Amino acid sequence: MARVALVTGGMGGLGEAVCIKLAALGYQVVTTYSPGNGKSAAWLAEMEKLGYSFRAYPCDVADYDSAAACAAAVAAEIGPIDVLVNNAGITRDMTFKKMDKPNWDAVIGTNLDSVFNMTKPVCDGMVERGWGRIINISSVNGQKGAFGQTNYSAAKAGMHGFTKALALEVARKGVTVNTISPGYIGTKMVMAIAQEVLDTKIIPQIPMARLGKPEEVAGLVAYLASDEAAFLTGANIAINGGQHMC
Ligand code: NDP
Repeated sequence: MARVALVTGGMGGLGEAVCIKLAALGYQVVTTYSPGNGKSAAWLAEMEKLGYSFRAYPCDVADYDSAAACAAAVAAEIGPIDVLVNNAGITRDMTFKKMDKPNWDAVIGTNLDSVFNMTKPVCDGMVERGWGRIINISSVNGQKGAFGQTNYSAAKAGMHGFTKALALEVARKGVTVNTISPGYIGTKMVMAIAQEVLDTKIIPQIPMARLGKPEEVAGLVAYLASDEAAFLTGANIAINGGQHMC
């Protein structure tokens, strides 16, 4: 039977590439979309035309009950979740001087609380079955901090601590927990940055002098999800064109 992979935020740039990669490898791929997202049917139809039949569930990953309901529906209707990719995320950039509580809470909720919310209903089942993969999509800006991103850098850095602590707790149970920290990848999130800023401030910081491709991150997710990666846990893998090495 095909393993079930739940990818949150699969209708975004990176998530879509992850869904396609895992489906191509034979996983039964399920994704989530924000309850207010009116484009989910169109996205599913577009994917169907490309030969991918994904299932998608409405889920606000920042909301504990919504995440629990989504995970329960996937388990009941499709099967136990073997691979969880915590990918959904947002930015609300502003300097700390302007940072207000709603923009702090929104980013912490969607990028960090979400990891707890989605992992909580999934992890025990993985442990009981003796196999599981939890892959958290963080960011280079969680490793090094970024101007105007106290909220996002804090949330993404928090994912690293979560990853290492949970990896210890489930290490003997066949479940691995890892974090991927992408640098700048050419998705909607990054293409929303003014071209001039990309050209003058961001690309010059990247030794490879280009943005990453979503498929390059998806390949890494696929490796971490595989049986071959069974001995790799608690790691944070940077994929950033050489922008930040540590
Ligand atoms: P996109 O903006 O393209 O996609 C983000 C996805 O998250 C969307 O599918 C969106 O769904 C979903 N999402 C947002 N809020 C919620 C919510 N409350 N509940 C459920 N889903 C939600 O971003 P990317 O694909 O670029 O980013 C994916 C991940 O990679 C993020 O965690 C991001 O922080 C991280 N990352 C991205 C980098 C980049 O350069 N692009 C670099 C480093 C990290 P919907 O549209 O339905 O709201």
